[in-house]
Amino acid sequence: MNKDKPILWLNNIVLFGTFIITITAVPWYGITHGYSGSLWLAAFLFWAWSGLSITAGYHRLWSHRAWQAHPALQWVFAIGGAMAMQNTIIHWCSDHRIHHKHVDNDHQDPYSAGKGFWYSHMGWLMRDHGISQTEPNNVRDLQKNPIVMFQHRHYNAIAVFTNLGMPALLGLALGDVIGAVLLVGFLRVVTVHHGTFFINSLAHIWGRQPYSDAHSSKDNGILALFTFGEGYHNFHHTFEYDYRNGIKWWQFDPTKWLIQLSSLTGLANGLRKAPQDRIETAKLKMQLRASQLRCASSKQAAEMLATLEQEYEQLMLRVQGYYSEQQRLLKLHKYKLDKKARKQLDELRQTVREHQSQWQQLRQQVHAMA
Ligand SMILES: [Zn+2]
Ligand SMILES: [Zn+2]
Repeated sequence: MNKDKPILWLNNIVLFGTFIITITAVPWYGITHGYSGSLWLAAFLFWAWSGLSITAGYHRLWSHRAWQAHPALQWVFAIGGAMAMQNTIIHWCSDHRIHHKHVDNDHQDPYSAGKGFWYSHMGWLMRDHGISQTEPNNVRDLQKNPIVMFQHRHYNAIAVFTNLGMPALLGLALGDVIGAVLLVGFLRVVTVHHGTFFINSLAHIWGRQPYSDAHSSKDNGILALFTFGEGYHNFHHTFEYDYRNGIKWWQFDPTKWLIQLSSLTGLANGLRKAPQDRIETAKLKMQLRASQLRCASSKQAAEMLATLEQEYEQLMLRVQGYYSEQQRLLKLHKYKLDKKARKQLDELRQTVREHQSQWQQLRQQVHAMA
């Protein structure tokens, strides 16, 4: 079926060429000459620069407008994004906005996971499937941004310079040009490529769905480790305008930390967050659904399930009650709560917590009977 789609030769040459050099020449040079510690450090820093330019820049800033960045930071991301060799901001964001709008639709999602691991990972880039850039009007906001448009016009030159020129210059300074080109150029770009590709493939296949099952996206803490925090993809697809992907403080999301740090230094503002009550109610809904599915075939559990559903309704009301009271108090105190108001809220929160733990206990009992 795919055979009649035209092959995108440049994509094939770049993606396979860099990959083949990385799995052959990179280890060969390592064995015969070795790589210095400074080269490894440079490769790591360039990996972080190009990777974060995709996640914080291409993805959360430009595709989703989840935050706003100072022009200086936008330049850093525009150059780093070209270094990641994932096409221009305009093309990447247009595809990505289509991915969110038509997620899992095999005819409209450019990298639909429904078409299998290989297609969503890289296959979609190998041939012209006629899906990408089907909605050229979906990036009009970005077309007004002079930094984005500069990168769009000079993408090839920036990509070649950052991937070959800069590593070569660095190698000259460190006394190992070939080593620098192999490590900081090839190995680094291939690592960034597949980090991003795994989000389109694995993060739609492997993991949990704590927030929604309306799409195939999954939360996966392991993937987050080498994708700068993008592994929490189920949360992301459910609340795409949130600048965070891992919302708990302990969830590994360096992109979120970079944006938070930038906001402390004045380089970022307008950080958008999904309302906490919506996040919690989405989670509860998914928990109830999981219990219902688990008990579907057990007569014994049916009665308990009815109790569970009642408890769910109660808990929902309490969660919503807590957040509306929080909003009321915040407005009343002009967003600066005094000691008394804080205490009042803490007590309410404690009651909600107690009900949440009752709810979890009840779920365990029901599951044990199913
Ligand atoms: Zn996204
Ligand atoms: Zn996705």
